[in-house]
Amino acid sequence: MYKRILVTGGAGFLGSHLVERLLDRGDEVLCVDNFFTGTRRNIEHLIGHRRFELMRHDVCFPLYVEVDEIYNLACPASPIHYQHDPVQTTKTSVHGAINMLGLAKRLRARILQASTSEVYGDPVVHPQVESYWGNVNPIGIRSCYDEGKRCAETLFFDYHRQHRLRIKVVRIFNTYGPRMHPHDGRVVSNFIVQALRGEDITIFGEGLQTRSFCYRDDLIEAMMRMMDTPDDVTGPINIGNPDEFTIRALAEQVIELTGSKSKIVFRPLPQDDPLQRRPDIGQAREILRWEPKVALREGLEKTIGYFEGLLGSGVIGGAL
Ligand code: NAD
Ligand code: UDP
Ligand code: UDP
Repeated sequence: MYKRILVTGGAGFLGSHLVERLLDRGDEVLCVDNFFTGTRRNIEHLIGHRRFELMRHDVCFPLYVEVDEIYNLACPASPIHYQHDPVQTTKTSVHGAINMLGLAKRLRARILQASTSEVYGDPVVHPQVESYWGNVNPIGIRSCYDEGKRCAETLFFDYHRQHRLRIKVVRIFNTYGPRMHPHDGRVVSNFIVQALRGEDITIFGEGLQTRSFCYRDDLIEAMMRMMDTPDDVTGPINIGNPDEFTIRALAEQVIELTGSKSKIVFRPLPQDDPLQRRPDIGQAREILRWEPKVALREGLEKTIGYFEGLLGSGVIGGAL
């Protein structure tokens, strides 16, 4: 029997892929998005699909619909976007969570929260395990995102304890792939677009900070597996790729794969930028029977192909 599934943030990078995968599986999908960072382009090929519905709506406001499951992804995810209107970012995470949890409570629907590795802040425990409480600055420029997501997790667990809601919380680590916003400032999209245009590649700091990059298909697979776990599995569960790279190594790999003549330049490191990040995915391996399949090189090749297509079609204009 197919399910009716709500995906908030469904016009974004990860949301649009999730929507596609759910439609492929035979479900009915309601995509809710206010198009802050998502675009109609990400989902326009689905418009007209008989099991797909699109609703322009801001999750900070109540939503009355009838669904069986909710994936809550609505929230800007890249630093330049979430810092553009930080008050709105916190509202989106907190009011958005309250409204979606209220909706799940009325419908007795399962609800999954797209949380983030940012709940660990600038981590002193490495790699990050779910039991680590994190090292987050509550008053810095990243706090609107980090603390908003932490508060959303608190709300999920309180609705679970207080109202016996069936919750699922995944902590997503840096994920990349086709349909990333070309100007959203995240490192993978920035480096690829810069390399393809022959512009300087901007490394923040010395580039010795690390990240572990997960290809989007692997990530979406884990998210869907999490939703389908038994009711007693709530998470939080880390999902990401444990292969860790310095930002400098990423830049060099992008230059090599694009064959670009771009030079590397160094810019100041933003405030509170985490020094290291790598997921411990032991729980995901055990509970979800999942691990990432796509290595960075292969994922970068696919992502480069996507951005080459965008450049060729003239969609990427203006400065980064
Ligand atoms: P994205 O910016 O492409 O997608 C977010 C979507 O949410 C966009 O379509 C945007 O328009 C929508 N949105 C924002 N505010 C909204 C609001 N108030 N009401 C309705 N819609 C709203 O980012 P993404 O990378 O696809 O991230 C999706 C989710 O995954 C986010 O919650 C993000 O925090 C989480 N996440 C992503 C990563 C990553 O590396 N991509 C890492 C950790 C967590
Ligand atoms: N809510 C919603 N859709 C629903 C049910 C609730 O958007 O179908 C919102 C509602 O506006 C409320 C929030 O979810 O502000 C939290 O709901 P809950 O039932 O937990 O709280 P209450 O309504 O008692 O304040
Ligand atoms: N970064 C960089 N150059 C850029 C964009 C980002 O060196 O053009 C760095 C950034 O300072 C951080 C890492 O790359 O250390 C990952 O940044 P991103 O914004 O993609 O993700 P997050 O910091 O949220 O993990």
